[in-house]
Amino acid sequence: MVSDAPASERRLKGRCYCGQSRFEVADAFRYAANCHCSQCRRTTGSAFKPFAGIERTKLAVTEGADALLIVGEPDAHDAHCGRCGSLLFSVVRDGAYVHVALGTLEDAPGTRPSHHIFVGSKAPWYEIADDLPQFQGHLS
Ligand SMILES: [Zn+2]
Ligand SMILES: [Zn+2]
Repeated sequence: MVSDAPASERRLKGRCYCGQSRFEVADAFRYAANCHCSQCRRTTGSAFKPFAGIERTKLAVTEGADALLIVGEPDAHDAHCGRCGSLLFSVVRDGAYVHVALGTLEDAPGTRPSHHIFVGSKAPWYEIADDLPQFQGHLS
């Protein structure tokens, strides 16, 4: 891997809590946000889920692919480590995109969450303390 590759070719590594599941994704995310919907809160156990979206073809599971826990349908699911349960990414938009759970990245992405979505179902015990735009549902 050459060190002076263009930014769009840079690869980021990610992994689960236990280390069985690992993936690589291009550092070329199309968007990133914090999702406050109740499902993202439950699947992460957190106040919200920071995620970034990219074409599905730009993510590759490098270890643990055969043992992922898939919750949902082939073209719309959450992919967790089959051993420790970490949420790694979600397959969305009819299977064309993935939403990478940013907390699983080992390397810092060039993209940062730029807004909050599903603020209408935000946890009542959490106050958003930044000035990023807030949306009641999806940013459309
Ligand atoms: Zn794991
Ligand atoms: Zn969500």
